[in-house]
Amino acid sequence: MSLRIYNTLSRKKETFEPLVPGEVSIYLCGPTVYKESHIGHLVGPIIFDAFKRYLQYKGFSVKLVVNITDVEDKLITQAKVEGVAVEELAGRITELYFDSLRELGAYESVDEFPRATENITEIIKIVQGLVDKGLAYVVDSDVYFEVAKFDGYGKLSGRKLEDQLAGTRQLQGKAKSPGDFALWKESKEDEPGWDSPWGRGRPGWHIECSAMSMKYLGQTIDIHGGGQDLIFPHHENEIAQSQGYSGKPFVRYWMHNGLTRMPTKAAGGAWQKMSKSLGNIMPIGEALSEYDGETVRFFVLSTHYRRPIPYSNEGLANAAKALGHFRDLFSVVENITGANVYNLAQVSEEPPVELGDFGKKCLEHKQRFLKHLDDDFNTAGAIGVLFDSARKTRNLASEGPVTDEELASEGPVTDEGLLSLARKTANPEDLLWATGLIVQLGRLLGLFEGPKAITIEILDKLTLPRDRVELLIEERNAARQKKDFDSADTIRKKLAEMGITLEDLPSGKTIWHM
Ligand SMILES: [Zn+2]
Repeated sequence: MSLRIYNTLSRKKETFEPLVPGEVSIYLCGPTVYKESHIGHLVGPIIFDAFKRYLQYKGFSVKLVVNITDVEDKLITQAKVEGVAVEELAGRITELYFDSLRELGAYESVDEFPRATENITEIIKIVQGLVDKGLAYVVDSDVYFEVAKFDGYGKLSGRKLEDQLAGTRQLQGKAKSPGDFALWKESKEDEPGWDSPWGRGRPGWHIECSAMSMKYLGQTIDIHGGGQDLIFPHHENEIAQSQGYSGKPFVRYWMHNGLTRMPTKAAGGAWQKMSKSLGNIMPIGEALSEYDGETVRFFVLSTHYRRPIPYSNEGLANAAKALGHFRDLFSVVENITGANVYNLAQVSEEPPVELGDFGKKCLEHKQRFLKHLDDDFNTAGAIGVLFDSARKTRNLASEGPVTDEELASEGPVTDEGLLSLARKTANPEDLLWATGLIVQLGRLLGLFEGPKAITIEILDKLTLPRDRVELLIEERNAARQKKDFDSADTIRKKLAEMGITLEDLPSGKTIWHM
């Protein structure tokens, strides 16, 4: 099966073929590190992390670069407000950003995080090249790109140059014409600046991405990603600068993700793009203090990447519930088989013979899952297939089939349910194969990586001392022995609220993890 992706430039789905067979280069516009990211800023990294995993599964070697804009007007303003140096603010916010990526499982896949301030030499070289070619002009100590000189300006966004010139767009700084944008601008004495042929100054935002993508991935890159709000002017300008400088096509496939929306109070609760200026933002730290990284990732990937993501507490709660069905299945299977499903490194290509038609069904699911991902990386469709698989596998584990109503209405399975399921006679090998397949497919999207190991830091964060947790588990076990399942369930829920998951092993022992 070949992968097809929607290319913003051609406005249609195209068969994906990298410039160099077998090797894929991806550049994703990263954050301007002046304030903590909101959840919308993390959508791109989650999608492209998952996309990279999928490309690797298909046999490509992939290099993913996400830049850090650590010099920009907003950063300078914010540093002044906080009374700190720009580098200090940028350093702190960059670390926060990395922490969020780690939490979301989207850090390791990024090969390079180049910072603008570490690539000033490359930036100056390209700006000089554009001046030499007559595509850019110097006014005092500023340098501007002259869009009228670049053939094809507006192709990506579909905006005509005449419209822009006729429009009310204001002139930028000392630019000669509306639409012309700064490549380099003079820095005041108290602002960060670097020596250049035009005096002490700093780069414009757009040129940073042209310089860093070129340096780390070459003059023609396979895939350039970013939010749909970056199509104009940012990506349009990147094309003009990069192609104007190198004379080569800049990007083969443009992939733009939908924007995260949230109701805005000032607009009467209307759903609008999440933005600081509208005040309808959810800082990522806040979301991650309530839900774990896997839940946020699951929430994001449950929508096709080109569609807007409606953010709400209810939406995240629903994602947690949906993910809970998978986690419950894994617990049930662990109970029956005694094996940790997260450790299933690989299941065989062919199902166990005894699985019969169900085994064939699982393979069909796998094909459908992969087909969705090949169709413009439709993670929403793929997750839907996984859900179907999980439901059917759970039917296999329980004697009576679990109805759709039950699945829709219930939260985590009850202790009573767990115990009765553990007594069923499902063949452990069959169950492990079917469940292992779900785990493996989920991992192509960065899901089901398994519970986090308990570290000293996590233990320190526990609001209850460790012996208190163990006492609660003992109380719960005593209740279960008395068949007082209500009490047992209450204790389990209480522990779950503290972020502690219990696992009942077939031996009768209960272990816990976070
Ligand atoms: Zn960019």
